[in-house]
Amino acid sequence: MSELRDLYQELILDHQKRPRNFKRVTPHTHETRGLNPLCGDNLVLTLRVDDGIVADIGFEGSGCAISKASASMMTERVKGRSVAEAIAVFEAFHSMLTVETPSEEVLEDLGKLGVFSGVREFPARVKCATLSWQTLRRALAEGGGTVSTE
Ligand code: ZN
Repeated sequence: MSELRDLYQELILDHQKRPRNFKRVTPHTHETRGLNPLCGDNLVLTLRVDDGIVADIGFEGSGCAISKASASMMTERVKGRSVAEAIAVFEAFHSMLTVETPSEEVLEDLGKLGVFSGVREFPARVKCATLSWQTLRRALAEGGGTVSTE
């Protein structure tokens, strides 16, 4: 189990050091900002949705390792997927971090995003891990605006 935990930590550190899709998408169809004042995480998410598909997605900003790794893995996961699929992954991710015992099915769907399940016990960290996902949901539901965890 501790080997698995090390593996998870490596995955988070790797995404923190070399965040994927760390860019501004131009031209884009959606732009939203996410703020987590408690920790100081802030990000700007831009995406281009073509025909119901997330054709491109990128994020910029600064924050702690968890928020950055989570944003990086989020963009990697939803890029090329439909908007409906992206929302479904958001819901699974959210339930993994807020429901006491997420179902096996939820965990299976999430695959390597399950690396964040350990933060469930730390409510302040849950905000770091879900910030980019809340920002994504806001973008897809309303096209713009700002999400704040406080
Ligand atoms: Zn944070």
